[in-house]
Amino acid sequence: MDENNSGQTKSSNGHIVLTSHREQIFSETVDINWDAKSPAERGPIIGTFTENQKRNAIGSHSGSYTIYRALSIASGHFSKDHKPDLHNTNPTVNIGPHPSWTEPGKIVSLDPWGSNVNEFFKKDLEAGLDVRPTIAVTQAHLTIPEVQESIKNGTLKPDGNFVKENGELKVTKVALEPVWYLPGIAERLKIKEGELRNIIYQETGGMFPELITRPDLKILLPPIGSTTAYIFGDPKDLANPDVELTCRVHDECNGSDVFGSDICTCRPYLTYGIEQAAAAAQKGQVGLIVYFRKEGRALGEVTKFLVYNARKRQEGGDSPETYFQRTECVAGVQDARFQELMPDVLHFFGVKKIHHLHSMSNMKYDSIVGSGIEVVNRLSIPGHLVPEDAQVEIQAKKAAGYFTDEDIDDQKFAETRGRKLEE
Ligand SMILES: [Zn+2]
Repeated sequence: MDENNSGQTKSSNGHIVLTSHREQIFSETVDINWDAKSPAERGPIIGTFTENQKRNAIGSHSGSYTIYRALSIASGHFSKDHKPDLHNTNPTVNIGPHPSWTEPGKIVSLDPWGSNVNEFFKKDLEAGLDVRPTIAVTQAHLTIPEVQESIKNGTLKPDGNFVKENGELKVTKVALEPVWYLPGIAERLKIKEGELRNIIYQETGGMFPELITRPDLKILLPPIGSTTAYIFGDPKDLANPDVELTCRVHDECNGSDVFGSDICTCRPYLTYGIEQAAAAAQKGQVGLIVYFRKEGRALGEVTKFLVYNARKRQEGGDSPETYFQRTECVAGVQDARFQELMPDVLHFFGVKKIHHLHSMSNMKYDSIVGSGIEVVNRLSIPGHLVPEDAQVEIQAKKAAGYFTDEDIDDQKFAETRGRKLEE
């Protein structure tokens, strides 16, 4: 490959190589047997471009950051031939392998063998294949103002290990990029694989022609946000149903999670979940918070802010009665999250039983239980943690049948009004 004056990438004979050129590439594609019992039989995911002929994935690594990498290469700051030096990048703690990794249909949206590639795909790496990790495991300390407050008021006591004297929480954190096995994704959606490939192709403006031209490629590296898991206590205990597990599966809400916006309960749910997870670790149990980049019910922040305006400007003000309706008017759907892929992360950790699930969402609960994980207790946050302007959301969700620890109050439902825009 070389570059002409306009910076366009061309092959050595001067042509842009279309990945759909059947005669160019089919013969050397590295086989993938998704549910195989060992990494050697399963085969490494090749989503890199150093040897196009061997690619067995559609798309490229890094999820939504793939476009930034392209921009960086385009601007001349990043060599497109860079191969990562993976020395010392191994996980701080090994996760699995668990039986769920190779149970057909159990995991379809991430690569369970994507963490310790130095070990799992040693031979392939030694043979020069450009195999990239899609999962990374490291250690961290968290400082959360709400948790510090709980330490101050004595609700949570430092133990010097999981909760440090200065209020920091010790965690193992795991980043997971999406790796989609298309036949498995289609099965979850209860549609045919061809139909799934067609719709993704069309709705991304033809971004991935191989969805149509290369039915032999079963893996898609979708350009979507990744997932992060925070583990409190021993990560190995996640797979032991005899050790109590406190868990929250959280979908991103940047406005609340990061900026403290008071229109919803996302940050209170997240920080309360973190505190309970840390408290579990202190008791010799284990805690797990999984954070999914599915902003605004996977509709995105622009749609979300439009909905806020529509809610607050409607006749009669922002009310629980019209809460879901306003989202549907703007977005065309109440929720685009499709929680059916969410439990894959839990199965990556080998989770079989969640003793304390911190969530109001029936979609999440149904999906977790439907995937074969037992849920013992469901918990909502204490009422005093719900911000005043988030009462509209909470009342609407309770009335719609979301899980709650508290009684449904018809009068409160009828009377609740959110803040006006100009207030
Ligand atoms: Zn929110």
